[in-house]
Amino acid sequence: MDMGPIGGPEGAHSSLHTPRLHHRSEQHGRLEPDALCAICGEQGALLVFRGPDRLMRLPGEFQVVRCRRCTTFYQWPRLPWSELQRYYEGDYDSYATAIQDEPSWLRRAVRRVYPRKMRHFVERFCQTGQLLDVGCGSGLFLEEMQQTGRWTLQGLEPTAAAADYVRRRFGIPVLEQTFEQADLPAESLDVVTLWHVLEHVADPLLTLRTIWHALRPGGHLICSIPNYESLSRRLFGPYWVGWDLPRHLFIFPRATLVALLEREGFQPRADACFMISYASLGHSLDFWQQEWPAAAQPAATLLRRLYASPIGRLGSYPPQLLVERLGLATVTTWAFQKAARHD
Ligand SMILES: [Zn+2]
Repeated sequence: MDMGPIGGPEGAHSSLHTPRLHHRSEQHGRLEPDALCAICGEQGALLVFRGPDRLMRLPGEFQVVRCRRCTTFYQWPRLPWSELQRYYEGDYDSYATAIQDEPSWLRRAVRRVYPRKMRHFVERFCQTGQLLDVGCGSGLFLEEMQQTGRWTLQGLEPTAAAADYVRRRFGIPVLEQTFEQADLPAESLDVVTLWHVLEHVADPLLTLRTIWHALRPGGHLICSIPNYESLSRRLFGPYWVGWDLPRHLFIFPRATLVALLEREGFQPRADACFMISYASLGHSLDFWQQEWPAAAQPAATLLRRLYASPIGRLGSYPPQLLVERLGLATVTTWAFQKAARHD
């Protein structure tokens, strides 16, 4: 059956402005014979759903398929970077200024919460050494690590303005390139961190292999990714923020990720949920409400205001802590340790 043009910015927009009330496409489960899995090489994959860019609301419609062999979810057709780039422009991601330059102590304290949690997670496995932060943005995590004085730091960031900011503001060297272009010395790093990066890269296998070679024996890879097993994914289905089309190219269920990393020479050490639960739940709620009929929009606005209010913030905190404790939050952070490769 012809589903019309899909994909790039010039893709079909006709269905974008039509409220779709069904959670699941009637095309669900259809075979996409041309889809090619970048993880295991399997040809053909099952359609999961189609959707627009719900975060930045830029034109285009995209598809998520699931590999029948390795069970990875991936975007198909795959867009080249020249087409994807525009979905990263504007205010996407945290190209923010240094926390220590924040005039308000309260803002400083609030903004420091997550970088500190990230540091604590990393330091469960390694407390000093050479660390590379891949996709370092404007350096919020690097700033936190620098303040300990125990780390030799380096960033990798293809966005010129962010890379330049980290160099000037923190004096930390930044490779201004994509990971595929990076030529990292073998066995030179103790820790490589990828905070919300692995789901964005065009070739996760190449990324993992590059990291494996750059890590010292016993070194650690720390990565946070959307948690396919999360409660929010189960509740919101295609409106789940973790899909974030078209920016997220791959979603790895837990067992799929572990099998992949073990195959590539890493041993899982730990996983934990401690990242951005409040904000990500707000996004999922917003994405779902975008599909509500016009008559329900006043209720949607009311719900959004309640969620954003101090009462909503405080009230959502205990259940979110529980969800994090159960490992069901929107984002999971993993620690893997370099082991021997089987090749
Ligand atoms: Zn596969």
